[in-house]
Amino acid sequence: MSPVAYQSLASHVIFGAGALGQAPDVARALGMTRVMVIATRSQAAPAARLMDLLGPIGAVHHDGAAMHTPVEVTLEAMEVVKAQRIDGLVALGGGSAIGLAKAIALRTDLPQLHIPTTYAGSEMTAVVGQTEAGTKTTLRDARVLAEAVIYDVDLTLGLPVRTSVTSGFNAMAHGVEALYSKGANALLSAVAQDCVRLMAHALPRLASSPADVHARTQALGAAWLGGWSLANGGSALHHRLCHILGGSFGLPHAETHTILLPHVLSYNAPAVPDAIQRLQRALDVDQPAQELWDLSQSLGAPRSLHAIGLPESAIPEAVARAMDGDAWNPMPLEPAALAVLLRRAWRGEGP
Ligand code: NAD
Repeated sequence: MSPVAYQSLASHVIFGAGALGQAPDVARALGMTRVMVIATRSQAAPAARLMDLLGPIGAVHHDGAAMHTPVEVTLEAMEVVKAQRIDGLVALGGGSAIGLAKAIALRTDLPQLHIPTTYAGSEMTAVVGQTEAGTKTTLRDARVLAEAVIYDVDLTLGLPVRTSVTSGFNAMAHGVEALYSKGANALLSAVAQDCVRLMAHALPRLASSPADVHARTQALGAAWLGGWSLANGGSALHHRLCHILGGSFGLPHAETHTILLPHVLSYNAPAVPDAIQRLQRALDVDQPAQELWDLSQSLGAPRSLHAIGLPESAIPEAVARAMDGDAWNPMPLEPAALAVLLRRAWRGEGP
């Protein structure tokens, strides 16, 4: 067996119903005295509540976060940070709000508290993806990692079912790719496997009963494990394709993950028998890729890249971008096979 070298990333995590109430204490413990609350526009109500809770240390509520972290949005927010002498960032929302906080922290090293309200998992990682001139690049940097994270299930009870399902698939994608990432090890695989197991159990229950606190708590816990898996392991072809399709062609992040995951798992399966065994156990099936496809169908998730706005003519460019550079993947990347994968996903065919 080859030696394992591993160091876990450390954030202070609080998980529980009503945990939002601890945000002021956590922010103050991080030395924050002039906080910028970062959110997307549709999260105005919880962001306003958070501003109330923060009281005198809440300086600004900035609601301009956007998906795929466009650099121009970050630069605009940076002006507010400077003008308002902000000394701490509290992001409340999905990966878009958290992505903006990370992009500011990358440029300022300000302390961050993340309060996720979807299952995207970004709050656990030291990775930031940024989009400039139609290209999304990701980088890992210690400044980007949140010092503290609050998971409050109450904030997720109103997450629409469609977003819950696709965001849940985003979390499972972190778990699936961590199982065969370059950094895979026994601890990571156990966590990643449980992420997939918990999320696959939770999604059908919350889809039929969106305010089921138990199912929501299980899904949020799975999101934590998925984000942790991505943060401490790594990713491969699936995340690369999602970033290309999101950054260059404007596709929505979680939906793209949901459509592509069964296809990429099927592509990589011959090279990753141990990961497949773990997924068979997590999902209690023989064919994990087919099961993920069936699950997304039964939950009404979008089926094809065509349906979420990708023109078929974009496929050759997406393949060329995926082949560009020396990105690692357990199966060798073949342009013709990638084009077949993307065409099947574009038409909405199974894996
Ligand atoms: P998002 O943050 O854009 O949220 C989707 C929509 O849901 C938004 O309109 C948002 O306002 C709304 N919303 C969020 N929480 C809600 C709630 N509880 N109730 C009602 N509405 C709610 O989407 P996302 O999928 O969470 O994040 C996608 C972004 O995150 C992408 O830019 C992606 O690149 C990034 N991401 C980064 C990492 C990383 O490690 N760097 C990991 C995962 C995702």
